[in-house]
Amino acid sequence: MATPEEFLEQTREQGLKELEDFLRIPSISSQPERADDVRRAAGHLAEQYERVGLENAEVIETGGHPAVYADWLRAPGKPTVLLYGHYDVQPVDPIDLWTSPPFEPIRQDGLLLGRGSSDDKGQIALHWQAIDAWLKTTGELPLNLKVIAEGEEEIGSTHFEEFVTANTDRLRSDYGVVSDTQMVAKGFPAITYALRGLVYFELRVEAATMDMHSGQLGGIAPNPANALAEILVRLKDSAGHILIPGFYDGVRPLTDDERRLFAQVPFDEADVKKTYGLQSLHGEAGFTPTERNWARPTLDVNGIWGGYQGPGAKTIIPAWAAAKISCRLVPDQDPSAVTRGLREYIEAVSPKTVRISLTQLSGQAEPWVTPVDHPLIQAGQRALKRVYGKDPALIRTGGSIGAVDVMTRRLTPDCLLVGFVLPDCFAHAPNERLDLDSFYLGRRAAAQLWSEIATIGIPDRTPTSLPAETRA
Ligand SMILES: [Zn+2]
Repeated sequence: MATPEEFLEQTREQGLKELEDFLRIPSISSQPERADDVRRAAGHLAEQYERVGLENAEVIETGGHPAVYADWLRAPGKPTVLLYGHYDVQPVDPIDLWTSPPFEPIRQDGLLLGRGSSDDKGQIALHWQAIDAWLKTTGELPLNLKVIAEGEEEIGSTHFEEFVTANTDRLRSDYGVVSDTQMVAKGFPAITYALRGLVYFELRVEAATMDMHSGQLGGIAPNPANALAEILVRLKDSAGHILIPGFYDGVRPLTDDERRLFAQVPFDEADVKKTYGLQSLHGEAGFTPTERNWARPTLDVNGIWGGYQGPGAKTIIPAWAAAKISCRLVPDQDPSAVTRGLREYIEAVSPKTVRISLTQLSGQAEPWVTPVDHPLIQAGQRALKRVYGKDPALIRTGGSIGAVDVMTRRLTPDCLLVGFVLPDCFAHAPNERLDLDSFYLGRRAAAQLWSEIATIGIPDRTPTSLPAETRA
């Protein structure tokens, strides 16, 4: 009888084929015309969970795109882990920049190209294959496992909190494991111990009920596009420091230890510039790029539009202009306080000649950080070391995972974030890809994870260590 490890070595080709089948379903959550494909991907995933021997596999309605659930709860006395991933993907535009069709995965130079290959279908697949290896070779898992795959991660986990609230008893677990992050480099694994939070807004500036003739009304009517620019330019100074009063309240200063840890993680400025075609980097003085990305908050304009956008000249003063603005937040900023501060500041600095409206969009997430000496993190470190032969880096990330916020508030305070894909996987971009060596190692590491977490046992939770909502 093979071991799970041997099984995974013998089934590489099969595993890759399984992933390719999953990638062919264009589960783009943001496009209404793809809703049936998203649903089809959910059904396909539930079938995989059932096929590998998980039980109670079910596509569960959430009010939006469905979630997929399955479990295996036959290890009495062992801890129960909730494993999270998401099966929805980002849109593919600009499609011309893809070198092959995004939903027809192809293998090329040790890579698998296709939308979702790394974010996050590849990581979901390597987990079901590690589970398959355990159940096929030993008939059991070393602990109890609940698996959840979300279909709305890429649109801000719109219904996830509602869904978790409605299914709290079914989902509650001793620990959470989330695989939607990245490694540091090829062969260099990482555990992510902090995430930035997020708040997102649309700012609309209106002056008139219609576009106006820029000759007839020029010099008389206010211009909302200019007014919008005036507002935006006051949000941040040219060095990247945010000017909203109170914005930095609560920002946890970096310790010397953290700065040392951050400095050990390679950051190749030249490579980043080359990959993205950047002329130079930009950001607050006094911090390294890694510190700025992981532990400092940001404010960015994500989109801006209004007025005439067609070819050639059109001499108008637009009736309105708008921008999307978001802030990445760090521990211990309070998203509600930031939102209040931004609203008051924009009202204060807006030209009085225009009407403004600031609408908060969905997808707010609290910043998250977990102690690095937690037994769950240590179990993750042991599992990774066993497979990669080196200690994983303890890293933060500049991104936000709304589901982690919801899971840690509502289901379990302890979450391990471990991902198996590379930083240059082009997630969300054209030619998203998966490094195949990393995929095969990831399958082995995923299998190790369950035996290591089994050894730390069921946590002895004092009432105050439980998420607030679960306290009596
Ligand atoms: Zn993702």
